[in-house]
Amino acid sequence: MRVVVIGAGIIGSSVAYETAKAGARVTVIEAGKIAGGASAASFAWTNATGKRPQSYFALNVAGMRAHLDLSREFGNAPWFHQTGSLEWYSRQEDWAAQQENADQMQDWGYGVEWISKSRLAELEPEIDLSAIGQSPIIYYPEEGWVHPVLYSAGLLRAARERWNASVHAFSPVETIDLSGETKIVRTTKGDVYEADVVINCTGSWADRKLDGVPSIPMASNIGVLGFTLPVASTLQRQFHMDDLDVRPDGAGRLMIHKISVDDVVPELGDLDPKGREAGLLIDAVRKVLPAVQPDDLESIRTTMRPIPSDRLTCSGWVPGVSGYYAAVTHSGVTIAPYLGKAVADEVVRGHVHQSLADFRPDRFIAAKNGMGQRS
Ligand SMILES: Cc1cc2nc3c(=O)[nH]c(=O)nc-3n(C[C@H](O)[C@H](O)[C@H](O)COP(=O)(O)OP(=O)(O)OC[C@H]3O[C@@H](n4cnc5c(N)ncnc54)[C@H](O)[C@@H]3O)c2cc1C
Repeated sequence: MRVVVIGAGIIGSSVAYETAKAGARVTVIEAGKIAGGASAASFAWTNATGKRPQSYFALNVAGMRAHLDLSREFGNAPWFHQTGSLEWYSRQEDWAAQQENADQMQDWGYGVEWISKSRLAELEPEIDLSAIGQSPIIYYPEEGWVHPVLYSAGLLRAARERWNASVHAFSPVETIDLSGETKIVRTTKGDVYEADVVINCTGSWADRKLDGVPSIPMASNIGVLGFTLPVASTLQRQFHMDDLDVRPDGAGRLMIHKISVDDVVPELGDLDPKGREAGLLIDAVRKVLPAVQPDDLESIRTTMRPIPSDRLTCSGWVPGVSGYYAAVTHSGVTIAPYLGKAVADEVVRGHVHQSLADFRPDRFIAAKNGMGQRS
């Protein structure tokens, strides 16, 4: 089977690796750099906490487990860090909701540990305990984070070396002709690729009209990430306080995300690391990590979060056409390694995954000519 994967972010790379491993002849076509879209600037926290409904929670847990399996498969997976993560809320009015979520997560089999402030001080001595006050603290031991660019590079290299996949960067796909038995994919450069199945992994671009195929309705939004200079801090685990997320990003750098900062940035583009948004990020971190200095922010980047319009994963055969599959999701860093395997099972091996039953494209796209199909 010839498979063309469009998009080489963390989802396209996972799909390419697993479909090649399943025996398909795989071609990956990427408009820009490998993992240069959302995967290039993602907080990349592997987690399922708070995710609902239960089928979506289960998909995220499957992703977390698949990261562990993939690490074992590679022997050395420099992209994956299962460090656990810490969570507390500074305002007492949020404590009941935290307890309720923790109870639900435990009931669904998720690892939740309530820890004391002294235990937190042992785990992360640089966190200023006075910033925590009396807040209850949760440690989630199964959570971690990923370097999505290293992940994508590692999987695409393996797909090339082990199973002869081919990867074409800087080649935007312009049209897809699904009318015949052989599908024809054309790029803006004039290159033409033939396939039995085309898999759309274009993330937040999935709602753009690609000539010849239906698009997926998206409600993507802007995410803002701050990156510090190397900081003399020994922080090992990510922490989540209110709407602030902080984690190590390698070589002493910290990555900072704050939802209320996302909300004030109207458009994509690099922001001034000395500007207003930078001030909001750095001030928030300094309350918890005094080692961070006011001028420590090196860069601020913005990216689009790919979010299907009902906020859930979209994975399956696209209705009304043949040989066209879509794999688009938020929480894609968490879900990617599982989704890659599930897509390979459905596309190459012909095994339908019940775990994807709630996430099919037919909830968005009417089946004019019957359900989508393999070919
Ligand atoms: C700020 C932020 C924080 C996040 N935090 C988390 C988190 O903590 N945990 C988590 O699990 N997820 C998180 N996410 C979401 C996660 O990053 C995404 O779900 C994931 O990166 C999506 O991967 P993707 O491969 O689908 O998309 P992308 O990485 O965007 O890749 C899509 C690719 O398709 C290519 N493409 C588009 N159109 C074409 C075309 N016509 N032809 C060829 N190629 C094309 C693009 O160039 C791009 O490289 C976050 C996202 C953001 C922005």
